[in-house]
Amino acid sequence: MVTTHNLGFPRIGARRELKFAQEAFWKGQIGEEELQITGADLRRKHWQNQRNLDQVPVGDFSFYDQVLDMSVTLGNLPERVNQAGGSELERYFRLARGRSGRESSCCGVQAGEMTKWFDTNYHYIVPEFHQHTRFQLNGDRLIEQIIEARAQGLSPKPVIIGPVTYLWLGKAKDNSDRLALLGALLPVYSELLDLLANHGIDWVQVDEPALVTDLDADWRHAFNLAYHHLKTSNTKLLVTTYFGELRENLQLACELPVAGLHLDAISAPQEVARVVDWLPAHKQLSLGVVNGRNIWRANLETTLDWLEPVHDKLGGRLWLAPSCSLLHVPVELGSEETLDPEIRSWLAFATQKLDELNVLAAALNHGRSSVRKQLAESTAAIHSRALSGRVHHSSVRARTGAITPSLGKRQRTYPERITAQQQKLGLPRFPTTTIGSFPQTRDIRQARLQFRRGELTEAAYIQRIREEVSHCIDRQEALGLDVLVHGEAERNDMVEYFGEQLAGYAFSQFGWVQSYGSRCVKPPILFGDISRPGAMTLDWIRYAQSLTEKPVKGMLTGPVTILNWSFVRDDQPRRETCLQLALAIREEVLDLEAAGAGIIQIDEAALREGLPLRKADWNDYLDWAIEAFRIAANGVRDETQIHTHMCYSEFNDIIEAIARMDADVITIETSRSDMELLDAFRGFEYPNDIGPGVYDIHSPNIPEKGQIKALMAKAAERIPSERLWINPDCGLKTRQWEEVLPALENMVAAARELREGI
Ligand code: GLN
Ligand code: ZN
Repeated sequence: MVTTHNLGFPRIGARRELKFAQEAFWKGQIGEEELQITGADLRRKHWQNQRNLDQVPVGDFSFYDQVLDMSVTLGNLPERVNQAGGSELERYFRLARGRSGRESSCCGVQAGEMTKWFDTNYHYIVPEFHQHTRFQLNGDRLIEQIIEARAQGLSPKPVIIGPVTYLWLGKAKDNSDRLALLGALLPVYSELLDLLANHGIDWVQVDEPALVTDLDADWRHAFNLAYHHLKTSNTKLLVTTYFGELRENLQLACELPVAGLHLDAISAPQEVARVVDWLPAHKQLSLGVVNGRNIWRANLETTLDWLEPVHDKLGGRLWLAPSCSLLHVPVELGSEETLDPEIRSWLAFATQKLDELNVLAAALNHGRSSVRKQLAESTAAIHSRALSGRVHHSSVRARTGAITPSLGKRQRTYPERITAQQQKLGLPRFPTTTIGSFPQTRDIRQARLQFRRGELTEAAYIQRIREEVSHCIDRQEALGLDVLVHGEAERNDMVEYFGEQLAGYAFSQFGWVQSYGSRCVKPPILFGDISRPGAMTLDWIRYAQSLTEKPVKGMLTGPVTILNWSFVRDDQPRRETCLQLALAIREEVLDLEAAGAGIIQIDEAALREGLPLRKADWNDYLDWAIEAFRIAANGVRDETQIHTHMCYSEFNDIIEAIARMDADVITIETSRSDMELLDAFRGFEYPNDIGPGVYDIHSPNIPEKGQIKALMAKAAERIPSERLWINPDCGLKTRQWEEVLPALENMVAAARELREGI
């Protein structure tokens, strides 16, 4: 008999119950007890969803983040968080978000750094280390939840982050070697495993996804040290890897002295056979056979075609699970009422994925005939999708098939173009601009909600947004900015807005996925060949331009960002999908140009986060991603100026690719890095214009004129001043007008003084 289990379940709740409880707690509207009750309630519901599995995960639920939970379990909270006192939960939230909730700004501390969880859109709180970090076990959370799960008649399998990955994920604040802490860390892990064993736990899931990354010899050695140390414990360890191939770490992973290994068979299908061969005969092999990161229904018959021979070899040693934790998909498809039924029949959210797992297990245990009906349904859904006229459009394919390199090429080189652009635009030195959005007030969001609910007519809604655009243009003129924007009031989100207007996209009502803490995103579902039925932004930009003599930028989201922030189809390479998006955006660019837009900005906020986990795969991704951007952007005439925007702080390793985009102007986030980020551009001698952000839009603080000038002076040390623009770090949609106006006023004043050499 095969064993079924799950690596983790989404914790946010089918209706985002956790989000609302967290936020109510932070506002002081509910107390700790009520928050705990909501937590226990959600765990109970989620375990009920998983009750058909042989083992359910325990400890995957979290009030904020599972890595932060592990830091609590290991007694590794920074001093600044503990000093301010309070309950464990208060200290926990203090590290997560700088303050625990009700407390006033007096007890605020610097929040823990947040960074992306491997190549997903989930963000974790980075563990902090220093040379003398010491660990101390706090197993309460896990033990309590084990008791809860047992009370529901389930067999709990605690989930923890393994010692090597835990260190790998963290950061030594004093630049010491964090790997040197392994010796101090392992006894606490042993103690934890003993504690779990004393509570009758048989198996523990130890997540070690660092095994799918490029590791040097020291880190690889750490795996051996760690698991030799832990092998004396009385629980069995299932080491889990996911999100990628093990490659050169495959043998290491197979030979660790543990009782079982989990392999992500969705991202590493070609490694299954090798692992089956390598894995010593006493070990269990868990295979991740349904995709834990995407929302498509699995092809159960073809999965069984390769899985049955593996089962024949391994028998009872085979376990089945989703490829990774289901944290990255929405909870429940059943509540979707507005999704088109045909498209809905192609999808599986977390709960449906567990059903698929049970069907696969039944087919292996009792033969395919025992689940004939379910298999037939799966196959029918796969066929319907494969043949659907809504997915496949030969005209779209013909267009991507006809792409030639010339499509992505500007007519002339940047030095030649920039002269034509300067003549046309007549901008001063150090031109000032913003990144696109202006404050999305409650009023705007309210109007959008009313429009969606049918309480506001389309005409009234458009009128309301036009007023906002007009207000925004007035304010920018009054401030004296050089290049204006319409303010993006009509956009709920920079990807969803475009998805809604492109053919090939569908939208869920409740398909929320946790991004960090209480923040969730609802990625649009890219299911079919992409085309643009009509212009998407033209009317807004035209209207905005009609209100002013100053140039208004056309504002678009780039193909790579749209791709990276959607659930995308798995029936063709990402490259192909991205090129389809690129052609659709290109049409919009050309329409904007024809309508007179002299400047068009194409945001690629998510270009960097699409980078593969392994460096060896970077070039392939960058090649098609940059090609897609170039196709979207570069069909314009010389005198049309293309801007792009990126908001992250690491460029060193991708600067050449960024240069290949050949945007006339790139605006980037730099204010927090004190312009040091520009070293990457200088070192490479980046040829085109740059707008280094001088104003940190994440902070309510208003930058002083002097500060801005000082930052620009630093920028001018690195980049010739005639190629510098002045702008904020990113869009202003999360800020208030009261903050934005004085900040931009200072920015414009700084630019004036720089021009005059004051
Ligand atoms: N143009 C977008 C805005 O200003 C860019 C957002 C982003 O880079 N994340 O909101
Ligand atoms: Zn940005």
